[in-house]
Amino acid sequence: MNVVLFGPPGAGKGTQAKELSNYYDIPHISTGDILRANVKEGTKLGKEAEQYMNRGELVPDEVLIGIIKNRLAEPDCKKGYLLDGYPRTIPQADALAGILEEIGMPLDVVLNIDVPDEELVGRLSGRYMCKCGESYHIRFNPPQKEGICDSCGGQLYQRDDDKEEVIRQRLESYKNKTQPLIDYYANKNLLVHINGEKGINSVFDDIRVVLDKYVN
Ligand code: ADP
Ligand code: ADP
Ligand code: ZN
Repeated sequence: MNVVLFGPPGAGKGTQAKELSNYYDIPHISTGDILRANVKEGTKLGKEAEQYMNRGELVPDEVLIGIIKNRLAEPDCKKGYLLDGYPRTIPQADALAGILEEIGMPLDVVLNIDVPDEELVGRLSGRYMCKCGESYHIRFNPPQKEGICDSCGGQLYQRDDDKEEVIRQRLESYKNKTQPLIDYYANKNLLVHINGEKGINSVFDDIRVVLDKYVN
């Protein structure tokens, strides 16, 4: 099963990808997570990416194309992949098509998780993360114990870029650079719309109805 989870920041891509990855047993590849791990480790790539991320701008295409090419070459991707946060520009999508053709794993479907703007700011500004990859929301998906991760007991924290000014810039970057990919994939007959305004479990059920068709 070869899938792209598409949608604006805060649509619920990470939340759904984590569940889907467990359910279908295929790797969840989040370019945001890969970049944040590099920032934390202080790698050369992390140092370059950090300045863009803190401003809510996209990291340059060459950097992302390199990351995704290496990641897709890893053996666990033989089972398929769930891409989250990539591609975000037309050049990234073109590069992806080339890579996928080379490895012989063409896309099955692009799920566009639709959520209106007004809702996104509230989702991002109330988001709390755990280092294990779980994310929570202060109102919509609170942990059982305040500030503590249900699955690993870790301390929850807010992302540096989940602040109002940076959120606005991220939504701007999405509109200018990423949204055109909706038509790009619709023209290739790969796009399926998912109503992301419903609760987390309903969205998961709706996605499963689509993805079950690609289980062999
Ligand atoms: P993305 O990866 O698309 O940026 P996340 O999965 O991190 O988005 O979700 C953003 C925030 O919204 C998180 O705090 C998450 O708990 C919350 N969230 C995710 N899906 C829903 C939903 N269907 N309804 C309400 N809140 C949600
Ligand atoms: P979101 O919650 O907005 O979906 P991500 O965790 O996917 O956030 O990404 C965080 C930041 O990492 C982005 O604002 C951007 O700076 C950078 N980033 C992640 N993926 C990409 C990509 N495919 N192209 C360019 N920049 C990216
Ligand atoms: Zn945790």
